[in-house]
Amino acid sequence: MPQLIDTGSATRPAASPDILAFPGDAGYDDARRAWNLAVDQRPAAVALPETVDDVVAAVDYARTVGLRIAVQGTGHGARHDLLDGTLLINTARMTGVEIDANARVATVAAGTIWIDVVDAAIEHGLTALHGSAQDVGVVGYSLGGGIGWFARKHGLASSSVLSAAVVTADGDVVRADPETNPDLFWALRGGGGSFGVVTSVEIALYPITEAYAGWLIWPMDRAGEVLAAWAEWTRTAPEDVTSVGRLLQLPPIPEMPEALRGRQVVVVEAAYLGDEASGRELLRPLRDLEPEIDTFATVPARGLTELHQDPPGPVPGAGDGWLLETLDAAAAAAIVESAAMDGTAPLLSLEIRHLDGALGRPDPNGGVLSHFEAPYAVYGVGALMGPVTREAVEARLREVRAASTPWAARTTYFNFADGDVDPSDLYPDGAFGRLAEIRATVDPDGLFRARHTI
Ligand SMILES: Cc1cc2nc3c(=O)[nH]c(=O)nc-3n(C[C@H](O)[C@H](O)[C@H](O)COP(=O)(O)OP(=O)(O)OC[C@H]3O[C@@H](n4cnc5c(N)ncnc54)[C@H](O)[C@@H]3O)c2cc1C
Repeated sequence: MPQLIDTGSATRPAASPDILAFPGDAGYDDARRAWNLAVDQRPAAVALPETVDDVVAAVDYARTVGLRIAVQGTGHGARHDLLDGTLLINTARMTGVEIDANARVATVAAGTIWIDVVDAAIEHGLTALHGSAQDVGVVGYSLGGGIGWFARKHGLASSSVLSAAVVTADGDVVRADPETNPDLFWALRGGGGSFGVVTSVEIALYPITEAYAGWLIWPMDRAGEVLAAWAEWTRTAPEDVTSVGRLLQLPPIPEMPEALRGRQVVVVEAAYLGDEASGRELLRPLRDLEPEIDTFATVPARGLTELHQDPPGPVPGAGDGWLLETLDAAAAAAIVESAAMDGTAPLLSLEIRHLDGALGRPDPNGGVLSHFEAPYAVYGVGALMGPVTREAVEARLREVRAASTPWAARTTYFNFADGDVDPSDLYPDGAFGRLAEIRATVDPDGLFRARHTI
């Protein structure tokens, strides 16, 4: 069993009332609010630490008074059932990015969101393995894996985490990297927030400044044909391209471009790390399907943080995801039919992300989750506005999932699984046992609760 090596010099101040908010306190409601506005989480108290010492004080406080601990940076991954009897440690005030351009490394504080890393790295001709949304938290995303626009070339974001600073259940400040606490380091990268409070991470940066990227859009009545053709195209697509096949039912709101307002469409989105001429050649089979709208162009790397058109700020939503072992014409037809996005469906978006490439190979330097045995990840979501309820979204997603069962994989993806999952289903065969042992060693009393507690 691993021994944790204390490399920090943490003092242990008494829990400062300044960083704790309790129900009824003025700051409590702001501090407990998750990015997902549909999740009305009511923790026993919220800590808003600004320093590592504040985190230590919060952990010591929770242990002393008998509260469990859950950590959030943004609340993108918030769940309804997580926070009863729990101290929420909200890291939103612990932000900051330092770039070592020569080493191509960013040191990122716990509450930092992806766009802040991207903006800091751009000045040095570098970028990071961010996801589709600008305001997702670097730490939460990377602890759960992290599939973004460079994923088929550079793998999961978790495999580009080079070290982490962690406050453990005992309130110790430790470093986790390949040499120091290697078991903890392995568990964190794909194991999520069950192992301590991560106060900062060092992540690798990549010399990417632009990509040939965009959307191809067809009307929804072409959905089965387009998804099947896209799936066929993915089978020979190079690792330089990461793409998504997606059904969208867009609201009739003024913020929506006129050509899409209130419409149902099927979309192929992609980012290609190559020049425009070879990108055009690569897309030819898809363009032969005569999309109604084609937005592909060479864009600066920062533009990829907006390519997927995620909401720019907090919204109420419900969603879920799973993995597919294969996607053929019959699977595409079953998904399109069961999603039934005819303008009345509760779903806003149902996307299928192409994995494989670097995502399909175990990374020798990676953590517990460093690859997927399945080549496609599905994620469906509804915006809980107007008549759309969480129950309706979840029911429709259950129908789509049931319809895609013949093609589904045993495992599911940590960051896309919003429902209840058996945590052993998040990992390739054989990995979960070691993960559970490490959890029992570093947090024997089960202090930490997490999205997918191990
Ligand atoms: C709009 C949107 C877009 C998304 N896009 C992508 C995408 O492109 N690719 C992808 O892979 N996923 C994506 N996701 C899923 C996202 O990666 C997960 O929801 C992830 O958990 C969010 O991390 P967070 O820190 O922002 O959220 P939070 O809810 O703050 O954190 C999620 C979990 O991470 C853990 N955690 C967070 N911070 C810490 C910490 N400091 N120490 C220990 N544990 C911690 C906790 O267990 C927490 O429950 C997206 C989600 C949304 C809502």
